[in-house]
Amino acid sequence: MTWQNILRQNITSWEQLCAFTEIDLIETKNVNFPLNLPVRLAQKIEKGNLEDPILKQFVPRAKENEKSPFYQVDPVGDQPSRCAPKSLKKYEQRILLVTTQACAMHCRYCFRQNFDYAKQKGFQEEISQIKGDTTLREVILSGGDPLSLSDRVLKELIDDLSSIPHLKRLRFHTRFPIGIPERITPKLIALLKECPLQTWFVIHCNHPRELDTDVLQALKAIQKCGIPVLNQAVLLRGVNDTIETLQGLCETLADNGIHSYYLHQLDRVQGAAHFEVSQKEGKRLIEELRTRIAGYAVPTYVQEIANKHSKSVIF
Ligand SMILES: *Cc1c(COP(=O)(O)O)cnc(C)c1O
Ligand code: SF4
Repeated sequence: MTWQNILRQNITSWEQLCAFTEIDLIETKNVNFPLNLPVRLAQKIEKGNLEDPILKQFVPRAKENEKSPFYQVDPVGDQPSRCAPKSLKKYEQRILLVTTQACAMHCRYCFRQNFDYAKQKGFQEEISQIKGDTTLREVILSGGDPLSLSDRVLKELIDDLSSIPHLKRLRFHTRFPIGIPERITPKLIALLKECPLQTWFVIHCNHPRELDTDVLQALKAIQKCGIPVLNQAVLLRGVNDTIETLQGLCETLADNGIHSYYLHQLDRVQGAAHFEVSQKEGKRLIEELRTRIAGYAVPTYVQEIANKHSKSVIF
């Protein structure tokens, strides 16, 4: 089956979800961010278990409709850093392209769930902006998820970026292979191999159970192109806030040559308050992790604070 067809089979209705996971959870059908769950991830949910760490990441709950103080529509200041319809510029050397609205899955804590995505096709305005800014060295393809784009659109974009002399690097920020590893097709691999810019892959994985053999095999194919694969995780209550789970995640990543890059403090987006782990607890977990596993397998614990010149490290 093609990845597009697998994507079309995503679970998007409560009826399908309840039947599949044997849960009875029609608390609310009115959530801000619709249910969207690849079958692969749904299969990993323990039947009938509302505390399952995969379920918690993807299944909407009534709690999302509660208003919490300090929780915002745009907690990281994306909107003020928009410089073209599809680009964000916060940091030196790097520009981030919001390439698409589409994702392989909808994560309940997504800080971009309210983002006002640009409607127009193509990246003309963004490309000319990047051409004009000779301080830039790296373009980050983000979204949504850049691997939602077809190989044709990706190739066009990569070709355009590759022709800009001051650009040296291309970075993908993607969660797609965790839900649909079939996206890493031989055609995509060929396209990545041809790219003259040094490419980096940053995946987003929060729990070791997300990393099955198909997912790891797909990531290996990327590594074999000479592309470093890094992971960023979000510290989430009830998902990965125990030392055993974090150790399991970081060790599995290390065993597969994937660098644990960042562990993010939750961005305070409206509806996600029930996911927050205190910084005190996060620091304790990182310190404990450091005593248990190789130094290179321990991620940097960071927070994104609007208007800062880098991510802020939590010590
Ligand atoms: C997080 C982010 C980056 C990348 O930051 P690194 O610390 O280099 O990973 C770049 N641009 C924007 C807008 C970001 O939010
Ligand atoms: S894959 Fe990333 S962009 Fe898409 S919903 Fe999840 S966190 Fe948000």
